[in-house]
Amino acid sequence: MTKSICVYCGARDGTVPAFAAAAEALGAGIAARDWRLVYGAGDVGLMGRVARSVQVAGGETFGVIPTHLMSLEAGKRDLTAFVVTETMHERKKVMFMNADAVVVLPGGAGTLDEFFEVLTWRQLGLHDKPIVLLNVDGYWDPLDALLRHVVDRGFAEASVLSFVKTAPDAEAALALLD
Ligand code: AMP
Repeated sequence: MTKSICVYCGARDGTVPAFAAAAEALGAGIAARDWRLVYGAGDVGLMGRVARSVQVAGGETFGVIPTHLMSLEAGKRDLTAFVVTETMHERKKVMFMNADAVVVLPGGAGTLDEFFEVLTWRQLGLHDKPIVLLNVDGYWDPLDALLRHVVDRGFAEASVLSFVKTAPDAEAALALLD
């Protein structure tokens, strides 16, 4: 069966050109494997780049966006499947239930929110889907350090670290999911 990869990432491009390049490489790699992209259905920032690169390579896209973000995030209606939800919570739920694995590209507070939600669900044993941080240009190093700090100070089991895999580039991230 086709694997569905949920990609969380910024609604902006960020300041480092390597972020955009990684988003495009990830999209191309997902399509090359005949996997399906699941994402937030926006046509802005890294979100738009991942989706467009999957489309250009002939791959399948599944997008989920809440009504109130349709204009702000330029809802991308030409996806293979385009789902509009009423709330952010519904968006995250529909994205996650339709995915087999999660890849996290650089992003802001929204991306962190999505990452921590799937990490906490994994910590609680609610799923065992792989979670991969795509650590482009060391972007997620401070997050990795924060998670280690949380474990060091006794607020999480060391096992929480094993739930998150880190990859330096798109190919390495996809290889972890192969
Ligand atoms: P950002 O990383 O801040 O650029 O946000 C990335 C994506 O996450 C955007 O599509 C945001 O709309 C989305 N997002 C932000 N907060 C939430 C939330 N609480 N639930 C669902 N999606 C969110």
